[in-house]
Amino acid sequence: MTLTPGDPRLLTPGPLTTSVETKEAMLHDWGSRDQAFIDTNARVRTKLLEIAHASDTHVCVPLQGSGTFVVEASLGTLIPKDGKALILINGAYGHRMAKILTYTGRAFEIMETPEDTPPDTAQLTIKLASDASITHVLVVHCETTSGILNPIEDVANIVKDAGRSLIIDAMSAFGAIMLDSRDIHFDALMASSNKCLEGIPGMGFALIRQSVLETCEGNAHSLALDLYDQWKAMEGNGQWRFTPPIHVIVAFDKAIEQFETEGGVDGRYARYSNNCQILVDGMGKLGFETLLPSELQAPIIVTFKMPADPAFDFQVLYDQVKDRGFVLYPGKLTVAPSFRVGCIGHLGADDMNEALSVMSDVLAELGVRNGASVAAE
Ligand SMILES: *Cc1c(COP(=O)(O)O)cnc(C)c1O
Repeated sequence: MTLTPGDPRLLTPGPLTTSVETKEAMLHDWGSRDQAFIDTNARVRTKLLEIAHASDTHVCVPLQGSGTFVVEASLGTLIPKDGKALILINGAYGHRMAKILTYTGRAFEIMETPEDTPPDTAQLTIKLASDASITHVLVVHCETTSGILNPIEDVANIVKDAGRSLIIDAMSAFGAIMLDSRDIHFDALMASSNKCLEGIPGMGFALIRQSVLETCEGNAHSLALDLYDQWKAMEGNGQWRFTPPIHVIVAFDKAIEQFETEGGVDGRYARYSNNCQILVDGMGKLGFETLLPSELQAPIIVTFKMPADPAFDFQVLYDQVKDRGFVLYPGKLTVAPSFRVGCIGHLGADDMNEALSVMSDVLAELGVRNGASVAAE
C-alpha cells in the first residue's frame, strides 16, 4: 500500500484512504474541452460498465456530487411521475431513498425489516403479485448502516419475474462484491468514485439499461439531476453539460487502473475479505461481538455491539485512536447501541493489524477488560 505519510488511515465507509498514485494524478490542470480529458472521461465510463459486464446492455452516466446526488438523479430520471416504487428498507440508505421520493413527489411504499435482517423475499413476491401499481423496486446491495449484504440475486429474480424495474443502490459494494449484469437483472445501479474503487469523492455514476433510459425523456424533476439529458449531451460530444469534476475523474481513472492491476473485483474482494477477517478475529479476541452473523456480513464495514463494561466510552476510544492515526466510525443503528469499523479503502493486512494493536492499547489504558456486550457475571 502506498500511503501518504502522516495522513490518518480511514476505517470508515467513505471517503476512504486513497493511494499516493491516485492523489498525485490530480496535480495538473485540464480544460473541460481538452481531448485528453475527453478521452479519460470516455475510458472511465467504459471501464465502469465492464466491471458489471454491462457494456452491451447498459450505459454509464456520471454525475457531479456525492453518492446521494446520483441516487436522487436516478430515481427522478427513471421513475415517471405516475410511477410507484416499492422500497426494501433495512437501514439509513433505504430510508434516504424514501426521503428522496417524498421530495420528488413520487408515490412509494416501503417494506421494512430490522437493520440486522435481510428483506423478506417471500413477502416481496406476494406484494408484487398483489399490487399492479408498483412499477419499480428499490434495494440497497450492501446496507452500510450495519454492513449487511442483502440478497440481491434473489430480489432481482423476483422483480424480473414480476416484470418490474429494479434499481440498486450499490454504492458501498460496487467493485468489491461481484454484481454481474448477466446474472442479476437490473435497470439501474448507482455507485460513487470514493468507495470500493478507491477514488476521491466528488462524483457518482449510474449504470442504466439503455433501452430503459431511452424512454426517460422528460421524467426528471430537476435539470441538474436529469440523467437522460446528461447522457444525451455526453453521447453527443463526449463532454459534460456543466463544469466536470475533472480532478476527480482523472484520479478515478488512476484508481481504476490500480483496481485492474489488483485483479478487479476478485482481487479487491479478496483483500477486503482478509481485512474484515483480521478485524473480526482481532476484536473478537478483545471480547467484542459483531451485530451480524458471518453469513450476512459484507466485507465492507463491521458493526460491533457497544461493550457493557462501564469503563468503555466510545468518544474517548475514537479520540485516542484518532490521535494514533486511525479514524473509526460511530454507529447509526436503532436495533442495538454500536459502533462501526470499516475494512475498505487503500489499506491491507498490516494496517488492520496496526489498528487492532492501537485499539487494544487504548482499551487497556481505559481499563476496559472485556468488549462483551453483556456484563460478565
Ligand atoms: C455512501 C453511500 C451512499 C451515498 O452517500 P454520500 O454521502 O452521498 O456519498 C448511498 N448509499 C449507500 C449504501 C452508501 O454506502
